[in-house]
Amino acid sequence: QDDLFKNVVSHAKEYGFIFPSSEIYDGLSAVYDYAQNGVELKKNIREYWWKSMVQMHENIVGLDAAILMHPTTWKASGHVDAFNDPLIDNKDSKKRYRADVLIEDYAEKLNQKAEKEIEKAAVRFGEAFNREEFITTNTRVVEYLSKKNEILARMAKSLGDENLEDVKALIEELEIACPESGSRNWTEVKQFNLMFGTKLGASADSAMDLYLRPETAQGIFVNFLNVQKSGRMKIPFGIAQTGKAFRNEIVARQFIFRMREFEQMEMQFFVKPGEEMKWYEYWKNTRLNWHLSLGLGRENYRFHDHEKLAHYANAAADIEFNFPFGFKELEGIHSRTDFDLKAHEKFSGKKMQYFDTETNANYTPYVVETSVGLDRMFLSVFATSLKEEALEDGSTRTVLQLPSVLAPTKAAVLPLVKKDGLPDVARKIIEELKWDFNVAYDEKDAVGRRYRRQDALGTPFCITVDHQTLEDETVTIRHRDSMKQDRVNITDLKSIIENEVSM
Ligand code: ATP
Repeated sequence: QDDLFKNVVSHAKEYGFIFPSSEIYDGLSAVYDYAQNGVELKKNIREYWWKSMVQMHENIVGLDAAILMHPTTWKASGHVDAFNDPLIDNKDSKKRYRADVLIEDYAEKLNQKAEKEIEKAAVRFGEAFNREEFITTNTRVVEYLSKKNEILARMAKSLGDENLEDVKALIEELEIACPESGSRNWTEVKQFNLMFGTKLGASADSAMDLYLRPETAQGIFVNFLNVQKSGRMKIPFGIAQTGKAFRNEIVARQFIFRMREFEQMEMQFFVKPGEEMKWYEYWKNTRLNWHLSLGLGRENYRFHDHEKLAHYANAAADIEFNFPFGFKELEGIHSRTDFDLKAHEKFSGKKMQYFDTETNANYTPYVVETSVGLDRMFLSVFATSLKEEALEDGSTRTVLQLPSVLAPTKAAVLPLVKKDGLPDVARKIIEELKWDFNVAYDEKDAVGRRYRRQDALGTPFCITVDHQTLEDETVTIRHRDSMKQDRVNITDLKSIIENEVSM
């Protein structure tokens, strides 16, 4: 698993997807730059999301609110008072941890222990294996899973009650239950606010303290009535937004999984009070299906219903993904009640209510939110697509089996040799295709090596121009995953590619 993850990070760098930020100065912790291929993949994920949320829904519209907002926004939203993470220091190693992440890691370890037992038994019993029955009857599995559930429930309760001493006690107890992780010497648990502060204005006395937004959602809430009125929107309706958010994360590890500057893709859906649970279920399913449509495998996703609810929510679930370091949150679906609109009404003194023309009554809508991290999406797609494949001739190849609709480059056009007019024909093909797709040209090295390079970049098609092309205007088109080659007419290329890569 560690090796797989290291491969992901080095492949991302070597092939121009992701670089550490300001690398010449040794980088900046948990901040990354998207390189020439990464920026395309990221853009395609964003577009895939936007199309499915905005273009495909008559009642969802977009927004691009500013990163800087009036500071009272964050008082009203609760971020100034409650956007904290519990942190704990290890006195020996001088390392800092998020207490809840530490506990979740232990829970995941117990889960893995249970899964191992289940796997072993499945092999032993073969077809006669009944997973459900085994989970409830095998003493070791029952013990692991109930311990896991118990510690998560205890953590949720202690954090909910702000009982930080209990959180510390739980960590110490877990070290005894998982002796393989070694024991450590801990400080007390403290709360730490995650917002980045900055200043607006030049002179010291008139400057205003601002925050870089820690989520995009509040830009949507404060614009709720502007959008509703100018767009003549009728409830239920949604507002979608993608954009940067900033959090001064304590545990900054795991590459682009947890960054200090990242991008969110959020949609706030405004509904009639009392209908929120119906819409919550609807969006849970709709969002899971969106993820599944990328074809990375059903087994890589699972729901995690929250026991501990944030101050604004009456129901919440994560869609978790099987990252190289285990199942972790990819997207959150939250039923946020009328908390945000009510709070903004209170702090601004402006009415934030919807006038229902059918009943001639005003009310504050309830909100169901879907919130997914674009960078986490990138990591899920990239890590799962990266494969080392053994070939029939005994060699291996590295192939990035990205969903074709997300691939940075859709086709590479390759003249078999650098002479006899083949490069000119290749360039002409590019001139035709570039209006519709990102296409690349490559004439360096033997064609087999060029194929391998495109495989590693995730390019779904390689088009090779050879001497026969000069006679009959046909080329070979090679498919990344099957490596099969077909001979086709140049005039058919566009529709062949379109068939596979269009959103
Ligand atoms: P976590 O528990 O992992 O810190 P969260 O529950 O605080 O995440 P939300 O506030 O629900 O996350 O944010 C919605 C989404 O934004 C998350 O599901 C995740 O995909 C993404 N996200 C949150 N924090 C980060 C981060 N530091 N780096 C990258 N993506 C993030």
